[in-house]
Amino acid sequence: MPELPEVEVTRRSFAAAIHGARVTGLRLGKPLRWPMGVDPETLLGARVGAVQRRGKYLWLPLAEAGGLLMHLGMSGSLAFLDTTPAPGAHDHFDLHTDRGLLRLTDPRRFGAVVWAAALDAEPVATLLGGLGLEPFDERFDGAHLHAALSGRRVSIKQALLAGDIVVGAGNIYACEALFMAGVDPRLPAGKLSRPRADKLALAVRTVLGQALEAGGTTLRDFRDAHGVAGSFQMQAQVYGREGEPCRRCGTAIRRIVQGQRSTFFCPSCQKR
Ligand SMILES: [Zn+2]
Repeated sequence: MPELPEVEVTRRSFAAAIHGARVTGLRLGKPLRWPMGVDPETLLGARVGAVQRRGKYLWLPLAEAGGLLMHLGMSGSLAFLDTTPAPGAHDHFDLHTDRGLLRLTDPRRFGAVVWAAALDAEPVATLLGGLGLEPFDERFDGAHLHAALSGRRVSIKQALLAGDIVVGAGNIYACEALFMAGVDPRLPAGKLSRPRADKLALAVRTVLGQALEAGGTTLRDFRDAHGVAGSFQMQAQVYGREGEPCRRCGTAIRRIVQGQRSTFFCPSCQKR
């Protein structure tokens, strides 16, 4: 599933090209996760502003016509094309503009395009309301992480995945950050010491920064809006490496299941 780095890579791949474009048409395919909530006709002629990202959501502001909040769900990808090929079976949203076609392809249809009058208007305000800090926000540090984890009994891995403390530490990146910080993913979240919280906060930021630089992670079919694949998975230290030797100590990487998600870790390098 596209995680924060993939969504940011997608944003960077088309934001400049679509900025200032005028909406000339809109086509909806099969229903996505939520209804769009606006008559497409009312968006015609609107000018696209600067595309922003919050967590795994993209916000496409439309001057004087609110904006569209987009989510790639489990399997979605956005393409910004300078041609207008006929929509395929999995193309469920097309925004035609005078600069090109923004197309959402989403085989599993957990993605969404939702209209709101503004970023702080419903239903967008509620969707974004529970999100934690951005990982590159300077307020996200060890002190913040330590305070937010206090009293939590879930595992540290699940506390990161929840996204209400910091966004972006999805399954791959949570595994990688815990390895980088030397923290056992099964540690009860509230037991993480302050010095280790410093290490973990830095690791979350570092891992996500590396993933951004690598153009995201291509697990199955992630591409940015120009069809370029990411390469972060080539540098994964633990994710997807069950039974293979730890790159640091040689111990076999273990896989366990936490909250129905696979966790990969080194039983020697990562301590409780
Ligand atoms: Zn190791």
